[in-house]
Amino acid sequence: MIMKPSSATIVEIREETPSVRSFVFDRSFDFTPGQYVMVWIRGVDEVPMSLSDRNTITVQRVGNATRALFELAPGDTVGIRGPYGNGFEISNHDIVTIVSGGVGAAPLAPLAESAHDMGCDVMTLLGARTATELLFQRRFENSGAVRIATDDGSAGLHGLVTDLLDETAGCNIYSCGPEPMMYALLRRLDEAGFDLDHSQFSLHRYIKCGLGVCGACCIDPSGERACVDGPVFRGKGLIDSEFGRYRRGADGCTL
Ligand SMILES: Cc1cc2nc3c(=O)[nH]c(=O)nc-3n(C[C@H](O)[C@H](O)[C@H](O)COP(=O)(O)OP(=O)(O)OC[C@H]3O[C@@H](n4cnc5c(N)ncnc54)[C@H](O)[C@@H]3O)c2cc1C
Repeated sequence: MIMKPSSATIVEIREETPSVRSFVFDRSFDFTPGQYVMVWIRGVDEVPMSLSDRNTITVQRVGNATRALFELAPGDTVGIRGPYGNGFEISNHDIVTIVSGGVGAAPLAPLAESAHDMGCDVMTLLGARTATELLFQRRFENSGAVRIATDDGSAGLHGLVTDLLDETAGCNIYSCGPEPMMYALLRRLDEAGFDLDHSQFSLHRYIKCGLGVCGACCIDPSGERACVDGPVFRGKGLIDSEFGRYRRGADGCTL
């Protein structure tokens, strides 16, 4: 387990959408899609970010750490620990349905590519607030079929990405995005009698150490730690958990 950050130099910054940028580093990581790295923005904070490629993170600007990251330029450095966590599980020739919301596409685009390379039949349901915030549409299209939904109707279905879900028989379902979206998906699958062992969700929990030591990201009632036991969990384990109901914030209290 790598505990000490090592320096990585930013070699390229790509503007993916008005609020999302990819930061390409001078180092590659061996990773399973869904794994994350802890990114130390010196003097500001250390935050978890999924790898969107072997040498890349893809970041939405939301607060202090991500704002500071957006101020960096090629040639600047950050500290990196990882990759950490379990990542998504896929098998050769599966039927794969990906349900992506917003920046949740960051770990799902490499998953779609791996699944395609493994001979899986991949369908992506890609959602965003508005057309310009659709992330990695081309990467998903290169890996299989894509259907789109936007909150404002500027592209694809005017509505929720979960409304695009119809045929689930024989599918393995993979999701990352806002928790209300993933919870709506889980409920819908459960109500349809779908075997929830065939669904995997990447959870956003407040991760501090990334090593399974501090307990900041524990999930009720199992006590599983999102940082090492996750961040990817099967739907079956989530259906009777805190998922979709509450989570812990920075101080460990529930939100
Ligand atoms: C496993 C995992 C993978 C992630 N991958 C990505 C990614 O690929 N791209 C991306 O844009 N975002 C990703 N995130 C979310 C990202 O970590 C937060 O957006 C970031 O930490 C916000 O920091 P901030 O200081 O800019 O914002 P703040 O203003 O501090 O917080 C904004 C939001 O981010 C959350 N947050 C802040 N610090 C942490 C932390 N240490 N751990 C978890 N959440 C935190 C807060 O609870 C709040 O909901 C991931 C989160 C997890 C848990």
